Formats: sequence, structure tokens, C-alpha cells
Amino acid sequence: MDLINIPGIGKTTLEKLNAINIMSIEDMIFTFPVRYEINQLDDFQKRQINEVSTYEVEVIDKPILYFIRRKLTKLQIKVQACKVIFSVVIFNREYLSKLIKPGLKIVVKGKFIKNFSIFTASNLEFLSNFHIGIIPVYNLRDIPDFRVRKIQGYLLENVKDFKENLPTSIKKKRKFKDIYSVLKNIHQPTKTIDVEKARTRLAYQELLNFAVRVELINIRNQRLKTPIKEYNINKVKELILSLNFELTKDQKMATNDIFRDFKKQTIMNRLLQGDVGSGKTIVAILSAYAIVTAGYQVAVLAPTLVLAKQHYDTFKNYLFSYGVNIELLTSDINKTSRNAVLNNIKTGDTNIVIGTHSLLQEDIKFQNLGFVVIDEQQRVGVDQRRIIREKGKNPDILMMTATPIPRTLAISMFENTDVSKLLEKPSNRKNINTKIISFDELEKAFTVIEKELEDKHQVYVVCSLIEESKNRNNISVNEAKLIIRNRFNKAKIDILHGKMTDEEKICVLDNFYNQKTEILISTTVVEVGVNVKNATAILLFNASSFGLAQLHQLRGRVGRNDFSAYCYLVVDEEVEDIERLRILEKSNDGFEISEWDLSLRGPGEVFGQKQSGVPKFIFANLINDNELRDFAFEDAKMIINEFDQISKKIVLDVLKSIESYILD
Ligand code: ADP
Ligand code: MG
Repeated sequence: MDLINIPGIGKTTLEKLNAINIMSIEDMIFTFPVRYEINQLDDFQKRQINEVSTYEVEVIDKPILYFIRRKLTKLQIKVQACKVIFSVVIFNREYLSKLIKPGLKIVVKGKFIKNFSIFTASNLEFLSNFHIGIIPVYNLRDIPDFRVRKIQGYLLENVKDFKENLPTSIKKKRKFKDIYSVLKNIHQPTKTIDVEKARTRLAYQELLNFAVRVELINIRNQRLKTPIKEYNINKVKELILSLNFELTKDQKMATNDIFRDFKKQTIMNRLLQGDVGSGKTIVAILSAYAIVTAGYQVAVLAPTLVLAKQHYDTFKNYLFSYGVNIELLTSDINKTSRNAVLNNIKTGDTNIVIGTHSLLQEDIKFQNLGFVVIDEQQRVGVDQRRIIREKGKNPDILMMTATPIPRTLAISMFENTDVSKLLEKPSNRKNINTKIISFDELEKAFTVIEKELEDKHQVYVVCSLIEESKNRNNISVNEAKLIIRNRFNKAKIDILHGKMTDEEKICVLDNFYNQKTEILISTTVVEVGVNVKNATAILLFNASSFGLAQLHQLRGRVGRNDFSAYCYLVVDEEVEDIERLRILEKSNDGFEISEWDLSLRGPGEVFGQKQSGVPKFIFANLINDNELRDFAFEDAKMIINEFDQISKKIVLDVLKSIESYILD
């Protein structure tokens, strides 16, 4: 049977389905709900503070509409349930104010926050439109959910014979039901436990694919050959002795790992993980210098111009007096200078070249590139990594990241990767005092900022938007500037954002480095790597617009010295989800925070789906489903050696995806 034979699918619907890659019955039935709307009414007698519930209530008075501030309105409705009178509050639904009349029965979903007199609703429906049950939500482009539900219903009723995708041995071992009941439970659940059971099997399936992928990559385990790098250890030691600090134990260990790799005949593919401020750069500098003494060139790839520029300054600062030639290659350099730089790289006069994606251009040819450093690797795509590698003959590779990645994920993301970790931070680091505050409490932060400014320290203010936006209430850089200017009328303020030209950005940052400006208002451009030691406070507007790992990175801009450092996460309590942010108040440990982030958002969101090569997990949670994950890894070893049709297909599909990821 084809899609077109299904009642309810005409030519237009078929086109719309094809447009989102649904070509067959199989594709259709394996299109799953993104979530479920669970429509049920809770017992008002059992109400509790802070518990999300759904109640049927009766309106007893005309609603009142409040304009709180630009783009934020509040509708307050007096209601009663079980003879108890209270107010329902809902934000940004001014259109309801005319529709809601005394006597009307409505259903509200939300919670009592402080006491039982005000119920904050996230959803409001008329009782007459409310249907009890579990409703799958598909959110397909251009095709309404009711139609999708009808199609799935028809398929479940009339096709029945869907292709099994787990081998019988595994189904038995793990006590999974057959595929038909899974599909039935996913598309037409009657109880939430049905969905949970089906989800477990689908999650397992994703984890199994992932585990097979990791196993296969492990098995391939063939590393490319590369010449041994005969570096001059005495020269490196001389550089280490000249540092004005002692390397931490972990920095020494990581450096040893890397130096050992240089002496191997197979390429190094190493990931250096270390929380913000743990001192990854110096490890890269020592390694790069070693390679230069061995007679090879080094390329350092940074995700942003700001970071490339900063690395350039740092590398030069450490290495210049050792006769190392370092060049910065950016995209805004003029043609004559560019040609000169390119020529130096080609003849080998340049030892270390630092740049952004501009390093990837085709006409950049190295004399003998032996080592590639990729900073903040999560920002650099698979393709970009491949292009830079191919500019040398199997160069050694060091990737650096502040976002800790579980080992299995690292293998999947970067093939055969070894990992070095900087767990210990340089001893003078202090925890960053972090507080979540509401807009009304801004003054709390301002008082501290005022004191920091008096002490000649500097301050970051970070916003999620550059300009005001119609669709979002968030504070923009421009608005923040007004707020800050208003409070600190004498302060030297500057702004930085992604729409500025590279030259402008560098100028702004230089001024901040040199303490010509005191407060820098910025978008997340400052997120990665910016290192201004004198900055001691950071204030983030609309903090919940950012991921946890990202917020941790951002606050890592301060606390880079032995001064006390402060971070204020400003939230709009009424509309933002703040619970998630509490971990930042409690923990300064990037590894712990990243685990949380991964478990909340999944690896695709955290690392970026496209560039990371991480498989997409829809049902599985790599962190929380740990038991299921262990099963999957156990079973993957078995599947690879099985010869039944289904096992073979699983392995083959995974192989195909690995090849296309690595080769294209
Ligand atoms: P990240 O790991 O976030 O890239 P950086 O490499 O920028 O961190 O290092 C942050 C700061 O710590 C730099 O100013 C660097 O000079 C300093 N630093 C690095 N290692 C040490 C150390 N062992 N002791 C003291 N300070 C250090
Ligand atoms: Mg860094």
C-alpha cells in the first residue's frame, strides 16, 4: 500500500508529507508525536502549592487587564472552584479579556505559587473545548494534528504488519513487546504507562544504534601513520621555567600525554577538556613550541576572530623571545598583506599561524604542517576539521573544549579520540558568587557593581539580543545600555555584538583589555575564551534564554584572578523557568553542570546536531537512561556478530552513517 491509498491523503497532503521526507507508509507510522497533551482534571480539594495542576473553575467577575511593561500584560480573573474564591493570572493573553465573562466555565492549567489566593496559569481553555485524554502532538509542518492522528489510526487498523526492527533474541532478553504494540502505544495511548513502555523500547533502540556506532568506531581503530616529531625537550623546559607560575598537576599530565603522542608513529587525536579558566592555552603553547623545535609548522584554529586575536597576542607574548614566527590570518586583512602572509606560510618562514575559518581557504598552503590545535572545538564543524587536517600530511591534532563530553560521546563525535582532562584549576581561582535575581532586584547587583568599579575592576553585561525584537521580550544590548547608563552615569560603557565588523570588535575589546572602558555590554560574542583578568562581575539579562553550559562559560569571563567575582543571573520571574538555573548557584564545576545540561537538553542541543556528528536522541536521555544505555552497550557487542537479517541491517545502517560522517 502507498500513502496515496489512505483515506484522508489527497494530492496536496501527499505533497506536504513528501516535503518533510515522509515517502512511505513505513515513514509515516515511524513519525512519532513530539509530545503529548495530557488532558485531565485534577481534584481541587487536593490542591498543593507549587504543583502543576488542571482545574475546572467558574468565572465570577469581569477579568482585569494590566499592562506591566512593554510586551508584558497580565490578565487577572476572579474565579471559584468548590466554593473557594481565588484569582487566576495569565500573561500575554489580552485577547481573552473580552471573551471571558462571569458565569463562564473554564479549565486552567498552572500552579499556586505562594499561597492559594493566586493561581498562575500557563494555559486556559473553555470547558466546552476541553477533551479529556492523552492527545499526541505531532507538530508537522503544514499538516494539522487531527489529520495526522487520523492517518496513524487508519494505518494501525489496516496495515498491522510493520517491519520489526529489533532481533528476536534482544526482544526476549530485554522483555520488549513486538513493534505493533509499541506503535499502537505511541500513537494511541490510553494510559500514560503505555507511552512510557513504548518510549523505553524506542529509547533503547536509539541507544543501541549509538552503542553499535561506538563499537564499530572502536573496532576500526586504525590510526593514520605520521612521522615522529623529534622535539627539543630542553628548549621546552627552558620555556616552562620562564613562566611566572607553576603548571598544575593536570597541566603537566596533559602536556606529557601530548608529548608522548608526538613521539608515536600514529597521529594524535586528542581532546583536552578543561573547565573555563583551567589553563588550556598554556598547554597548547608548550605543545606548539615543541612542534616548532621539531621543525614543523603549527596551525591554531579558533572559532571567532576575537579569540584568534587573543591567542595571537598570548602566543606571541610567550614565544616571541624564542625566535618563533607567528602570524595572524583573518578575513579582513588586505590583499597585499595577505599575500605576504600566505607566502611566509608556504615557504615555512611562519612557524605558527593562528586564525579563524579564514585558515581553511584553499590557497593557504603549508610547507610542512605537523600539528593542528582546534580551540573551543564544539564551535568548529566536522568539515572544517577535515579541511584543516588535509593541509598537512596527517598532522597531529589537539582539540580543546570547556564543555566536558562523556567518553562514549567523544568517540562518536571525533572518532578515535583520546582524552586529557584538566580537573584541577590554578590554585588562585575562587568560586564565582552566583545569584539569580529578578528585574525588581537589579539594585542588589548594581550595588556590588558600583563597589567593583570603585575598586577599578571591570564589568560585563550580557544580553541575548542585539536589538529589540517584536517576538521576544528579552532585554537587548541597546536597552541594557540605557539601563546601565541611567544607573552608572559616569562609567565608561561600550558595546559589543556580532553585527559589528571585525575591526570594530577588536577595537572595543582592546579598549576593554586596556581598561579604557569599564563596563562592556555584549551579546554572547564574549562567550568563548575572552580573558580579561581585571573583570570581576558579570550580569546576564534573561539568563534562562541560555543553556546551562553556556551560562557557565559566560560567567567564566570573571574570576580569572584572585579577586572575588560575582555573577548575576537576571530573570523575568513571571515568564522564565528559573529552577534549571539553580545548579549554577550551587556549583562552580563545569563537569557537573554539563552533565545536567546534557540530561536536560540532550547532546544534539548541547553540542549542535549537525557539526557534532552526535546521533539524534528523541526518546533516549544519555545521562538519565543509564541502565538502558548499559544494556544497549552490552547488546551492541552481540549484535555486531549476529547474522540474522535485523541485526545485519542495524549494523549496516550504522556503518553507512559513520562513513558519510567521516568521508563527506
Ligand atoms: P581556558 O582553559 O579557559 O582556555 P586560559 O588558558 O585562558 O583558560 O587560562 C586562564 C588564565 O589562567 C590565563 O590568564 C593563564 O595565564 C592563567 N594560568 C594558566 N595556567 C596557570 C597556572 N598553572 N597557574 C596560574 N595561572 C595560570
Ligand atoms: Mg580558552
